[in-house]
Amino acid sequence: MTLNAALTCDDGQGSQLISAAWKLIAARYIVERHQIGAAVLDRDGGVHVGLHLDAMVGRAAVCAEAVALGVARMATNAPLVMVAAVRHPKPSETAPARLVPPCGLCRELLLDHAPDMTVVVPGPRGGSVMPLAHLLPHKYVGSKWASSHVRS
Ligand SMILES: [Zn+2]
Repeated sequence: MTLNAALTCDDGQGSQLISAAWKLIAARYIVERHQIGAAVLDRDGGVHVGLHLDAMVGRAAVCAEAVALGVARMATNAPLVMVAAVRHPKPSETAPARLVPPCGLCRELLLDHAPDMTVVVPGPRGGSVMPLAHLLPHKYVGSKWASSHVRS
């Protein structure tokens, strides 16, 4: 399967992340097990990928963005600046692979760890980059991490 027009971006770094996420899910796709690949960019240029982990019990599944976030945090303390995710089509689908925005849980999680992160979102002519916070206005902000939870 090759990269299609929906998997392009008007931003060079966004394109880099799409390519990394697509490369991962294209290599690791398994029906009902791994359907989405994600990539996170750190401020120093590091790209960290993660694979969606489906589960027999749906709520036990872990999103690719969450796995990529953990992989990134194992590798570096550098601020995380961008995320992108690509969904592999099921064999029964005729539509090609496509960009997917993070789910609500991932929006919360990513913003907790990277409040200034941007995200590649699908658009009519490929992806474009926007602040992740725009996808989750009025985000919950608790007090348990005080002000020192984000290191830069
Ligand atoms: Zn998610």
